Amino acid sequence: MTDSSLLEQIHKTDGVWTGITADNLWADEVRRLARRRNAVILAHNYELPEIQDIADHVGDSLALSRIASETDADTIVFCGVHFMAETAKILSPEKTVLIPDANAGCSLADSLTAEELTEWKAEHPDALVVSYVNTTAAVKALTDVCCTSSNAVDVVNALPKDKEILFGPDQFLGAHVRRETGRDNIHVWSGECHVHAGISGPSLTEQVHSHPGADLFIHPECGCANSAIYLAGEGTVPEERVHMLSTGEMISHAKTTRQSTVLVATEVGMLHQLRRANPGVDFKAVNDRAACPYMKMITPAALLRCLALGQDEVTVDEHTAIAARQAVERMIAIGNPGSGE
Ligand code: SF4
Repeated sequence: MTDSSLLEQIHKTDGVWTGITADNLWADEVRRLARRRNAVILAHNYELPEIQDIADHVGDSLALSRIASETDADTIVFCGVHFMAETAKILSPEKTVLIPDANAGCSLADSLTAEELTEWKAEHPDALVVSYVNTTAAVKALTDVCCTSSNAVDVVNALPKDKEILFGPDQFLGAHVRRETGRDNIHVWSGECHVHAGISGPSLTEQVHSHPGADLFIHPECGCANSAIYLAGEGTVPEERVHMLSTGEMISHAKTTRQSTVLVATEVGMLHQLRRANPGVDFKAVNDRAACPYMKMITPAALLRCLALGQDEVTVDEHTAIAARQAVERMIAIGNPGSGE
């Protein structure tokens, strides 16, 4: 099905599919195989530049899941981390969903397991569960309402004030929601994205002070920026310079900003889209080590292998998918779940 000489070069080194250069031959073969499977290639903003460049659509996880549910393609190749591909499967159960490497996990999603949530619920039997979208399908299935960073406050405000709430897994987003809603009956799970624990108060303050006049873009859609949201809310960064933006808004702002420098508090993969949108602006990462190693497991070799062999397929059992879909749909019914590309 594929140029076997290319496929033969692919091997795993240090847990990552490698052995392929992202050249024209690779790009032609990826497109040919995608056409043959009637597949659409979706890439998260934090993917490697060569993966973003070959994808049919680039965006955040929910925007990509919406595109996935509306496409005529038979197969969705989700270049992102596993819980995102699961969400696409939950919303499009009739389609084949492939992820180029099923080991591409998420430290934030892994910080709250279904077993832990079951135990937590047993300790608070009357509480409602609000879970951030960075969770496994099994955790979503035990959740009353999902939320994104953009709508977490609205979701919690929509729930009865006298109800206890279990909020997880991100402790920064939970603290932000507790502060913004003024509720003291929110229990927050102590999970975090270890990758982005590096976007800390000192690094944010130092960058803002050493670039006076620079704008600060914060993308609240992945766990990575939640600590920055918390710090901005605390007043660590001057309010007028802080722009909380979806990835789509970030790209529009990138095109129209009057500043010559923009600090970006999110995963470094986002810089690729911003620099393409406005090459005249110096976009700087608040923390240039804030790179998600799981996102970077989706290599050119992994994508080619995935399309050639139909691996790795993502499945969610029907019972789990139905319950998880309800938690996502309740969120969508409450309000804007955050926008996309
Ligand atoms: S950046 Fe953090 S929260 Fe986002 S996918 Fe990677 S590990 Fe998960």
